[in-house]
Amino acid sequence: MKRATPTSPAAHSNEMRYNPATGRWVIYALSRRQRPRELVGLQEGARSEPTYDERCPFCPGHQQDLPPVLLECGRGDSIKQIRVVRNKYPALTPRGDLRRVCQGMYMRMEGYGHHEVLIESPVHNRQIPAMTISEVEMIIEAYHRRYLELIGLKKNLLVVIFRNYGPRAGASLAHPHSQIISTGVVPGHIREQECRAQRYFDQWGRCMYCDMLAEELSAGIRVIHANRSFVSFVPYAAAQPFEIWIMPRKHKAHFGDISASEKADLASSLHAMLRKVQGRLNDPDYNYVIHSSAKYRSDEPQAHWFLQIGPRLTTRAGFELGSGMSINTSLPEDDAAFLMLEPLPVKGDRNASPV
Ligand SMILES: [Zn+2]
Ligand SMILES: [Zn+2]
Repeated sequence: MKRATPTSPAAHSNEMRYNPATGRWVIYALSRRQRPRELVGLQEGARSEPTYDERCPFCPGHQQDLPPVLLECGRGDSIKQIRVVRNKYPALTPRGDLRRVCQGMYMRMEGYGHHEVLIESPVHNRQIPAMTISEVEMIIEAYHRRYLELIGLKKNLLVVIFRNYGPRAGASLAHPHSQIISTGVVPGHIREQECRAQRYFDQWGRCMYCDMLAEELSAGIRVIHANRSFVSFVPYAAAQPFEIWIMPRKHKAHFGDISASEKADLASSLHAMLRKVQGRLNDPDYNYVIHSSAKYRSDEPQAHWFLQIGPRLTTRAGFELGSGMSINTSLPEDDAAFLMLEPLPVKGDRNASPV
């Protein structure tokens, strides 16, 4: 893979970079600069969870406490590796109605949607970096099946698949799990991103994300991993330190179109990136999310799905809330170089295959 010298801004000045996908400027505050190692040093000590926790509702033996199972995947074991259930405390419920109701100058509607939990393993502490790639592939397979089911429902316009790891990322349970939420509305910022991509396509006749991928592969300085179907890189205008995008090489607007070989390759890329995050960054809390186009844009040539990983190493403060701009104290090129180094051994890694 080609690697060039980073074009770091002069040491005396800060730099702003524009993210063409989000339309947001990011401030690289080098005067407040923290080297990657300093950011990693802010993490607390390693977390330790047992293989089984009798109080955990996702551990085997608590099936009777779970909502009805929507999907099970496994290899003939009595305890299936993956279970998808309705969230017991859902943000949205399928009973809701999409009718808008006026309240004076305001508007409300019922909280329609689906909220599911994907329990990734029967083992309480078997997080993705410690899994085999084929176990991760089964998680991707379960994502895909639920995605197709949910996006196929008439009232659903958007399906968001995400994983919260650790309390700073919003996880309330340590047991390995992801979540899937479908909504009956398309949030404004998603529409704005789609319009931005549409304008780019109208101007250049090309997908902005395909161009971004080509740019990253050409520059080489922010790419950390690549296989036949996916490229993983720290984006040029990353809003936070060690943000990673895993982008399919093949142009596809929505995750539902992922092929069998792409599922295997995504499992490999995700496994490698989460091992990097855990091993190089001292096991931080993180979120990842699959960005896929809203239903009505799912066949258009400007939309391109991808997976975003966001380690929780910093906290958004008042300026960021007020301006919508992020202050990142770490340059994407430096972050990529740091992640390119060999990861340290992964916790609970007796069965995992090498990166
Ligand atoms: Zn558990
Ligand atoms: Zn594309």
